[in-house]
Amino acid sequence: MNPQVRDLWKWKAGGSEKFSTKVLTTLINSRLLTPSSDCSETLCNKLVPKKIEVFVWRANKKRLPVLLELDKRGIDLHSVRCPLCDDDIETVNHSLILCKHAFDVWCKVFDWWGRGGIPFVNVEDMFMESGQANTSVGKSIWQAVIWSTSYLIWKNRNQKVFSNKSWTAPMALNEIQIKSYEWVAKRCKTKSLDWHSWLHNPQGFLS
Ligand SMILES: [Zn+2]
Repeated sequence: MNPQVRDLWKWKAGGSEKFSTKVLTTLINSRLLTPSSDCSETLCNKLVPKKIEVFVWRANKKRLPVLLELDKRGIDLHSVRCPLCDDDIETVNHSLILCKHAFDVWCKVFDWWGRGGIPFVNVEDMFMESGQANTSVGKSIWQAVIWSTSYLIWKNRNQKVFSNKSWTAPMALNEIQIKSYEWVAKRCKTKSLDWHSWLHNPQGFLS
């Protein structure tokens, strides 16, 4: 090695040698959200923040740190049973749907939208669930509600596990209504969503 020549880092992504945070962000998002051809484009929903799209992608790939997945990756755990109900092994499907704590929340959300039984038992079907929407925007709104609910179920599972904070189904519904409205109303360009209808007659947004 020639001691007169200093080592250098060179930035070559984006076809230029000039470093750009914008190019870096685009690159990270493209790798994270579309890591391979089997990542369906339907895992994008413009009505939710990017952090929820990332969460959905991870959950769909079973990359959430539920106890079974940690165990599979060689982390020594005392138990892999659900830390919330202790009724079953904590898988992604259990944590987000089948756990009685999650299921109570889904029942509240489906009641709020005037829907009957919960039509999914696994996350793949849950994230693709289109409800009874007649229009593409209606379908996106319903999907955004489903995705927001699963994200908040996971967030609150973590708060229970790590901070022992409880989350009852009525509290959950309240948080889901507020957060999903905040996320969707701000991003939805083709429909104006009012808070009163969102709470009391949300089915109207599906047509
Ligand atoms: Zn459970």
